[in-house]
Amino acid sequence: MIVFKKEQDLRTYLSQQRALGKRIGFVPTMGALHAGHRSLIDRSVQPETVTVCSIFVNPTQFNDKSDYDKYPATPDADLKLLLEARCDVAFMPDAAEMYPQGFAEVRTYDFGYLDSILEGAHRPGHFRGVGQIVSRLLEMVQPDILFMGQKDYQQCMVVKKLLGMMGREQQIQLVICDTVREEDGLAMSSRNVRLTEPQRALAASIYQCLVSIQGKQNSDHFSLVRKECLDLLKKKGLDAEYVSLADATDLTLLEDYEPSKKMVALIAASIGGVRLIDNLFLNP
Ligand code: AMP
Repeated sequence: MIVFKKEQDLRTYLSQQRALGKRIGFVPTMGALHAGHRSLIDRSVQPETVTVCSIFVNPTQFNDKSDYDKYPATPDADLKLLLEARCDVAFMPDAAEMYPQGFAEVRTYDFGYLDSILEGAHRPGHFRGVGQIVSRLLEMVQPDILFMGQKDYQQCMVVKKLLGMMGREQQIQLVICDTVREEDGLAMSSRNVRLTEPQRALAASIYQCLVSIQGKQNSDHFSLVRKECLDLLKKKGLDAEYVSLADATDLTLLEDYEPSKKMVALIAASIGGVRLIDNLFLNP
């Protein structure tokens, strides 16, 4: 595996690989890698593919400074995981490399409705930052395939829209990978290491709520199930930001179950000051 810190070195290497007929698979991350990230790398690693994993904690997508300050950094363990996964390239730039002209100089994109709901509504400026960093990384890596996790489903939708806005939807295939979970259902997340053992166990109630929203789709109204979920989360000591139902194709929020649509349930809740998100498709 080769570790690059500089954009130019990365670009030179990848253009050589492209000339050799290799495809480029790309997994952008913020590090503190776990089995969820590993599953994305595993999807990419193939004989004729050069797999690039970027590790960069992007300051412009954090609306909460203390969340940024406390974001875990485990570079040695990350490199070990990437080596074991047979990743070809680790790209670990610093902020000066990613934003040489400063944060304000990188082009921003307006995601409209997608930025006005759920994560967009609760984390002002978050998707603006995601758009900045992902567009910049895509310019550098120019991948054929981009691997992202369903765990951040709204982010996947934002990036899909970004590919269209960048005119790259034909060249770059977006592959959305299943959410990898702990045994009790808690979605793996870099932020989970900030939870105490009891908090971690209580956090599994997020997944329990998603499963109950899924299980009651043919018997109850969503408003009732939602209320039960809010009560359960509160009882477990979680502070819910939203428990929502949406059309999975465009994230239009739904008041009630609509069996004719592909639906997704989404939850954001915090415990001990750690904000967690998760989602589940209700029907295939
Ligand atoms: P992050 O490092 O949190 O920015 O995540 C980098 C990529 O890994 C994103 O595409 C995430 O959606 C994905 N990811 C994070 N956690 C999981 C998980 N538990 N299962 C699958 N993918 C994940």
